[in-house]
Amino acid sequence: MSQTERLTDIGPPKYDKYLPPIVKKNYGTWLYHEILKPGVMVHMAESGDKLYTVRCGTPRLLSIYSIRDFCDVADKYCGGHLRFTSRHNVEFLLTDESKIEPLIADVKKLGFPVGGVGNAISSIVHTQGWVHCHSAATDASGVVKNVMDALCDKFESMELPGKLRIALACCLNMCGAVHCSDIAILGIHRRPPKTNHSILNNICEIPTVVAACPTAAIRPARIDGKESVEVDEERCMFCANCFTVCPAMTLNDPLNDGVSIWVGGKVSNARHEPMFSKLAVPYIENNPPYWPEVVETVVKIVDVWAANARKFERMGEWIERIGWPRFFEMTGIEFEKYHIDDFKYAGLSYKRSAHLRF
Ligand code: SF4
Ligand code: SF4
Repeated sequence: MSQTERLTDIGPPKYDKYLPPIVKKNYGTWLYHEILKPGVMVHMAESGDKLYTVRCGTPRLLSIYSIRDFCDVADKYCGGHLRFTSRHNVEFLLTDESKIEPLIADVKKLGFPVGGVGNAISSIVHTQGWVHCHSAATDASGVVKNVMDALCDKFESMELPGKLRIALACCLNMCGAVHCSDIAILGIHRRPPKTNHSILNNICEIPTVVAACPTAAIRPARIDGKESVEVDEERCMFCANCFTVCPAMTLNDPLNDGVSIWVGGKVSNARHEPMFSKLAVPYIENNPPYWPEVVETVVKIVDVWAANARKFERMGEWIERIGWPRFFEMTGIEFEKYHIDDFKYAGLSYKRSAHLRF
């Protein structure tokens, strides 16, 4: 049976089903793209066709009303075509250059900023937070909304030295891919799970719980006459994997959960190999609804980088050039004992390659 004859409602539709006609026509024959102004790009095809893109930022969690508004804009200017980027920006794709300005005016009237292209911050990719995930050590949407409000001018302009990518994950499971962002906001638990032995065997599969722990800290045990598990707390890294598979192993702790901040990650290969984010601030307590301490710290790091980095230098490249001691000095972040990785298995994460740079 051919691809087109396949009848199923499982999985996404074939990727080219909803491509705009101009993209279908020039598929695989695009020559280059240029940034015309903040939030606006043009892609040039070998055929001479031009595809204009207008990017606007969204808060990721969108109401049905906002989605209908976006669809109305796409119907009015783009033949009904738009796309969501992996960082939750909406991109409107047009072929008529004269429609760019009216489209931007309509999007701004709806309250969404246009930008996120070139040397700018793009929308902050984030996870579920208290809205939707039981493992969360911090909120996601609330923190991101406040940080993005403070940095919105850097989305709408292209005045930063290089690209700035910020991500938030609300626990160590890191659905938000925070290990490779210029600035990563990571929710952290700081205590091992509290096990409810009276219900564990009724609601969880003990072998699954044991297998869920990446550090082998959980083992089966008979406690007060009931089949349950015990946790070797020395081995626990508070990752919440066990809580993910077993609600009887609660990690949430209002007094000890909070936020850590990591810096210097990147995915791209440009100028430097991809880099992992490294710890900058070990702990900031949760302070909803405006998260002033997190906002202040992130804005400070961005401002110091923006004022001192060379053209196109990403956060990690800048820190590598000036050195970590200087980074802590310039940002005013205190270097504490928590910056030293003394976890039992830390050796596994140390760089042990013979590849040295001087
Ligand atoms: Fe957030 Fe962790 Fe849940 Fe992912 S698993 S949404 S990072 S709390
Ligand atoms: Fe293991 Fe993570 Fe649970 Fe700790 S929180 S016991 S490391 S699965």
